[in-house]
Amino acid sequence: MRYLSANTYYRNMFGHKMYRISLSLPVTCPNRDGRVGTGGCIFCSEGGSGEFADPFDDIERAISRIRGKAGNDAGYIAFFQSHTNTYCDPGYLHDRLVQATGHPGVEAAAVATRPDCLPDEMISMLADFNKTYPVFVEMGLQTASDETARLINRCYTTDVFIDAVQRLKACNIRVTAHVIYGLPGETADDMMNTVKLVSDLGVDSIKMTCLYVLRGTVLEQMYNNKEFEVLGMEEYFDIVDKALDIIPSGMCVMRLTGDGPKKILIAPEWTKDKRAVINYINRRFGDG
Ligand code: SF4
Repeated sequence: MRYLSANTYYRNMFGHKMYRISLSLPVTCPNRDGRVGTGGCIFCSEGGSGEFADPFDDIERAISRIRGKAGNDAGYIAFFQSHTNTYCDPGYLHDRLVQATGHPGVEAAAVATRPDCLPDEMISMLADFNKTYPVFVEMGLQTASDETARLINRCYTTDVFIDAVQRLKACNIRVTAHVIYGLPGETADDMMNTVKLVSDLGVDSIKMTCLYVLRGTVLEQMYNNKEFEVLGMEEYFDIVDKALDIIPSGMCVMRLTGDGPKKILIAPEWTKDKRAVINYINRRFGDG
């Protein structure tokens, strides 16, 4: 096996297949509302990376949509996906976690957030909840380079990410790091430094994606001005290949690339043919 896939990871943990139910809470992001920045990260769309998410109140409908293909033996992870899901009162998130895991078949929760939105009270609430239902905290690092971070308007330094991972791990909370390959100005070495950092920190899983240019973003303007080029498919998966050589065997690789929302996806063109991408991945890397 070339890497530990999400499928195998979840089967080892839960004993059966798990499906994610992507949900959207009415929260925003401190990098949009002015608390730490405005405009958001330059690649992020209005939906805050949650274009595929259902409103939280529609969780039952979201589950029933998946249930047909999932079968009776599968379990679900309530994935709080859009924007910054810990940018709220811990009590508010706790109540939503209780509600979500109250649905039959929901066996765990995943919470997408920023590392600068994890005060101790929030981590303590998540740690308590994690004793009953596994909680995965997902953070968008994107790059370990503070220089690139400034360019993409991430509005936190890599030290803040390191500190958050250490505090979460100290409370036995599982951490997923999101990284992006192909950010403007980044070399292959920069990208491997990012992979080395998350590997050294001992995060539980990693989600890799190529940089997408989405309509209405600052990145789109930069792309139109020819300030950078997007990665080709071979080029992108050569980087993934190198990353897999670095990632420890026990770290789950949740995905080898992401899924840009087609309606607003400008580039790279090759990512629009999902079937071709999956076939390529299977040929080159197997299914983990
Ligand atoms: S922190 Fe996340 S939700 Fe906020 S602007 Fe950046 S990518 Fe978007």
